[in-house]
Amino acid sequence: MAEILDGILVRKAVLKELKTRIASGGSVSVPGLAVIQLGDNPASTAYVNNKEKYAQKLGMHAEVHRMPASFSEPELHALIERLNADEKIHGIIVQMPLPAHIDPNKATGAVAPAKDVDGLTPENQGRLWTGRRGHRSCTPAGVMRMLDHYGVELKGRHAAIVGRSNLVGKPLAAMMLERHATVTLCHSRTRNLAEVTRSADVVVAATGLAGLITAEHVRDGAVVIDVGINFVETGAIGEDGKPEVKLVGDVAFAEVEPLASKITPVPGGVGPMTIAMLLSNTVDAWEMPQE
Ligand code: NAD
Repeated sequence: MAEILDGILVRKAVLKELKTRIASGGSVSVPGLAVIQLGDNPASTAYVNNKEKYAQKLGMHAEVHRMPASFSEPELHALIERLNADEKIHGIIVQMPLPAHIDPNKATGAVAPAKDVDGLTPENQGRLWTGRRGHRSCTPAGVMRMLDHYGVELKGRHAAIVGRSNLVGKPLAAMMLERHATVTLCHSRTRNLAEVTRSADVVVAATGLAGLITAEHVRDGAVVIDVGINFVETGAIGEDGKPEVKLVGDVAFAEVEPLASKITPVPGGVGPMTIAMLLSNTVDAWEMPQE
């Protein structure tokens, strides 16, 4: 039986630390987080509300700029510029996905690197790959925090990351390399995926494909981290007459768990860590402005 890595518990520990750091900063200023949302995608609204709720719980200043989907690119850039210059604001997030007429790279790139608490600007991604201080992307930083919390040693071990996005796979590879792991970054064109992942001590799945990682992908005793968030139909019809859905990860949990030494569940694994690391980056930005 694998040890279950509990993201809700680790999030609680991170939030407790942050509360202490904020309290010890005195009452002259508090960390400030600004979130920009364009349109009313229900999943985005839920994420944005959550960010606001957790920031407020910690006594931070949180402001959400809810703008219509028709908000133009120049208007968005003007808003980002205003927030870049606002002394109350230490962290800025542009919630994804953005409407089709907005270039997401230009939008995230417009955030001042010191306030880029999502760690998505080329400046911060470059700082990560060159081992310099800077904001780290929240989900991979959350994976690292979770591994640290549960004492998973990476030095000299083989980590196979499945998924090479700029948001998760690539920054996580850099973070694991920094900790002296031997990293294999797998993706949709990787040949013999199961062979590669079966040779790894740590397997991370970040693809968005429900159940991609099965028993044949994991060796006995491996640590398995599931970043995936997938909504799949259960086969039942809900009271509203619509097909019922449930949240699952990229790992076929029931068949992988008996093989693994440690495993994250979905929900309740990596998911809760992302918000914790976002707030942690914001507190970092408030305490110590980036050089
Ligand atoms: P993405 O779509 O940008 O990237 C998916 C990656 O998976 C690509 O690199 C692709 O090459 C790889 N891939 C696709 N099919 C594959 C296959 N058959 N074999 C091997 N690799 C394959 O996705 P993303 O933004 O990195 O997100 C990945 C998953 O993580 C999604 O389910 C997303 O919802 C979830 N996610 C969770 C959190 C969180 O807070 N827990 C945060 C971000 C993303």
